Amino acid sequence: MSTTFEPGAPAAQGTIPLSVPHVAGNEWKYIKDCLDTGWVSSVGSYVDRFEGQVADYVGAKYAVAVCNGTAALHIGLLLAGVEPDEEVILPSLTFIASANAVRYTGAWPTFIDVEPDYWQMDPERLETFLTKDCHMSGGRLTNRHTSRTVSAIMPVHILGHPVDLTPIRMIAAKFGLQVVEDAAEALGAKYYDAFVGNTESIACFSFNGNKLITTGGGGMVVTNDESLAKRAKYLTTQAKDDPLEFIHGEVGYNYRLTNIQAAMGYAQMEVLDNYVAKKREIARIYTEAFRGIPGLYPMQEAQYAFSTHWLFTVRVDSRQFGMGSRELLRWLGLRSIQARPLWQPMHMSPAHRLSYAGACPVTASLHDVCLSLPSSVGLTSDDHQRVINSVLEAAPAREMVAAGKRHDA
Ligand SMILES: *Cc1c(COP(=O)(O)O)cnc(C)c1O
Repeated sequence: MSTTFEPGAPAAQGTIPLSVPHVAGNEWKYIKDCLDTGWVSSVGSYVDRFEGQVADYVGAKYAVAVCNGTAALHIGLLLAGVEPDEEVILPSLTFIASANAVRYTGAWPTFIDVEPDYWQMDPERLETFLTKDCHMSGGRLTNRHTSRTVSAIMPVHILGHPVDLTPIRMIAAKFGLQVVEDAAEALGAKYYDAFVGNTESIACFSFNGNKLITTGGGGMVVTNDESLAKRAKYLTTQAKDDPLEFIHGEVGYNYRLTNIQAAMGYAQMEVLDNYVAKKREIARIYTEAFRGIPGLYPMQEAQYAFSTHWLFTVRVDSRQFGMGSRELLRWLGLRSIQARPLWQPMHMSPAHRLSYAGACPVTASLHDVCLSLPSSVGLTSDDHQRVINSVLEAAPAREMVAAGKRHDA
């Protein structure tokens, strides 16, 4: 690769995407089976098999397939009994679907900060918020700032790294709150020895195109509670009480996953272990390559964690590195390498401006400095090296610009 710096004119090369599906197993065979047998829609053996397979994998008793991860979260919150005008506590650092799902129930998201080491929901800040910013009123835990009842906590396993669940579960029990885990990014991750989703409560996965495995689009609600699983199936299939007379007990949803999608998921689950191993290998190679580079700080893995490193993300200290995260984003973009900042923090989102948020300085600063780098399961070692070289070339090239070539217009 050329080391001469030509502003804005890198050699044209194929684009390296951030994270794209990897389809190389039995997907064709199983989907063809759906087509051959005519079982293409929302009933069929692959739906049941895919549900059983995910439940078995994560160590949950029940799994209910749904059309996407956002729908899974909506149903998860309904199962937890979240009511309109109540509040659900979640980290400000998340994809907007977590917060939107809360609004779908008529409840309000309340945002708290993450911890600075692994970027997950901070149990200490959670407890402080519940102790200092809430009080008991009429037997209900009430947010002092909004006078609304706090009814649930939604920890989000960000970027494939598990949340520190034990303290959060203890705090939830102490304050009488439900827990609904947003595990959309964390299929295959482990908290100590247990897979994320092996849960006392409710966990929700996504099989969107950029997630660890994909069904094109899809999601799953998992739980150990039979009655919750039955209710999830009921709510996601239009709450039908009598299939012949079409009697519906309440307003349900059409959140079903199709058999074709489930067939794809069934094939993807067969190779999930390989995908997780590949993601971890990608993270290991990046981390190794960036070791000792001033101003580049790769995401870390906690003692308690087995992370899938769903999207490998690095903190870029602009003063040390000589280039900020957004400049590096553009630099890589000019080289046909797709990188991405973290999501706009929820406490800054115009969509959630009416929700309550505590101070979230860690989330805000991570948003400024973080960049996710190409992490597809199918990333070749040549492409991986191209990304690494492009990142490493960025800082010295910047110095050259500063040193002399001021007017490159
Ligand atoms: C992807 C994602 C979702 C939503 O999943 P969809 O399948 O896209 O609806 C929810 N929460 C988080 C944290 C996600 O990353």
